[in-house]
Amino acid sequence: MDGSPGPVPVAISHGVITAYHDPGFAAPLGDHVMPMRKFQLVADALAGRAGIRVEAPSPVATADLLRVHSSAYVEAVRSGEPRALAESQKFPWSPALWPSVLLTNGAAVAAAARALDDGVAAALASGFHHSHADHGEGFCTFNGLVVAAEALRAAGRVDRVAVLDLDLHYGNGTASLCATRPWLASCSIYGNDYWQNTPYRDVETVRHADGPNHVSLALPNGSGRAILLAALERGTARLLAIARPDLVLYQAGADPYREDPYSPLDLDHDDLRERDRFVFAWARREGLPLAWVLAGGYTPDVSKVVDVHVGTFDAAQSVYR
Ligand SMILES: [Zn+2]
Repeated sequence: MDGSPGPVPVAISHGVITAYHDPGFAAPLGDHVMPMRKFQLVADALAGRAGIRVEAPSPVATADLLRVHSSAYVEAVRSGEPRALAESQKFPWSPALWPSVLLTNGAAVAAAARALDDGVAAALASGFHHSHADHGEGFCTFNGLVVAAEALRAAGRVDRVAVLDLDLHYGNGTASLCATRPWLASCSIYGNDYWQNTPYRDVETVRHADGPNHVSLALPNGSGRAILLAALERGTARLLAIARPDLVLYQAGADPYREDPYSPLDLDHDDLRERDRFVFAWARREGLPLAWVLAGGYTPDVSKVVDVHVGTFDAAQSVYR
């Protein structure tokens, strides 16, 4: 907008960061590569921490899902039929799946709305960036990032939304959903090669060609902090070059961590905290409200995955003081 006053520092109400969590996030899916219990472990690690308030979200409304996903796919996830479609994200379908995905997507919507009020907020659930309009992929049922963006647009609270995706994996579902949404922008900064990544073979389109509103930056194998931060400089500049967003949704993946079985990157806990600090400092400096979500993390010692996600809170609290 011409004549706008430019970025203003984002204020935080009461100096408290709200994080949305519900024990119902973790559908009972049995033994699975996706450690669903990490959501609860992160909530437990944050309980009682000064400056963090954990709140339960409302389940997302079906109407919110239908702005992003086809009715056939939404109905399949609800009913379990047809089964191949209901399990396209590669979770075994059970009646417990539907209420859990309503809560995880509800958390993304709640965090995004809260970020507009407080400057920053979090959902202790994944952003589910492999989910497409008419099917799921890569453990991602509904794309909470785009569901949240659409819900706030429908409420008249934002015009433009940007997604900054720092999961190890390329955000192919978000990129495909960007193609029909010129008001949405996405930047995926991802590892170029995934080690031994059998589950990822389930993802249909590993990588799209970049488009006018969805861009990507691949990190070479062995990348450490300096290469990641240089990519973040470029990626955040490219997001702002597309258009200034009213809200940033940040997908803070734990799977770039060096001990993650899929990660070819050389990033330890301190490096990932620096990554997060960079993102929060950028958003604050630019006056952009930011909501973040958790994402992949498959290190067998789940406490290390939890440490990455808790480190994101350390970074946020060091920036939004
Ligand atoms: Zn991932």
